[in-house]
Amino acid sequence: MARVKLTDTRKETRTLAGRPVPVVVTPRFARRGRLAVFADALASLLAGMRLTFGYLVRPSTVVTRQYPENRATLKLPARFRARLRLTLDEHGYQRCTACRLCERACPNASIRILTRPGALSKHELDRYIWRMDSCVFCNACVQSCPFGALEMTAEFEHAVFDRRLLIFTLNRYAGPPASVLLKEPDEAKRAAAMEPRDPYGGPVPLNGTDLPYLKALAVAPRPDPVRHAAAPAPGGQA
Ligand code: SF4
Ligand code: SF4
Repeated sequence: MARVKLTDTRKETRTLAGRPVPVVVTPRFARRGRLAVFADALASLLAGMRLTFGYLVRPSTVVTRQYPENRATLKLPARFRARLRLTLDEHGYQRCTACRLCERACPNASIRILTRPGALSKHELDRYIWRMDSCVFCNACVQSCPFGALEMTAEFEHAVFDRRLLIFTLNRYAGPPASVLLKEPDEAKRAAAMEPRDPYGGPVPLNGTDLPYLKALAVAPRPDPVRHAAAPAPGGQA
């Protein structure tokens, strides 16, 4: 057994091609006795056992958690980023104005915003498509939004067998943003302006980018009762 000692250098003069040349010699290895090696190994073993028995008598200090058994008590850091979501105001209206700033801010083209002419505004959000499969959770989209219309949530259980199922429609309804809806006093007109949107079921890949080993395919919409509940009723809560 040998131990590297890079700090133990010395200067020497050696003869190279018949001429004296000053050199710095760094001994890379120092031989050690078997007893010293055994003492090191024993100390390391005892340190490990001390840690293990410490966890045995103080279970609250254990860092590793048993997932998914601990799902009910799982605590994630406050800024944990796992899923992009469009926020709603206190009336249940989406804040997104379809300005596309987040789409431009995204370094991976993971956001695609489709718009359409609106009854209450010149253009409105038709579909907000988010590709989780290429998202790096950098948060640039959230920070770029001037309306606070986006947020990252800690919802992290997204395991699927096909990457194409990681393409989501984030808007619950197609329609104008809250700032426009709230200016319309007629409740029936507000309700008519909001058309429910189901999960994305269109062709993939989007943005002309191939998915490695996967060809474009039209995927059937999958049930998503959490995000894709019925569009909020006008005046409802978020
Ligand atoms: S978190 Fe980053 S990579 Fe993901 S959609 Fe937003 S900007 Fe794009
Ligand atoms: S989420 Fe924000 S930045 Fe993105 S299109 Fe909507 S309003 Fe614009």
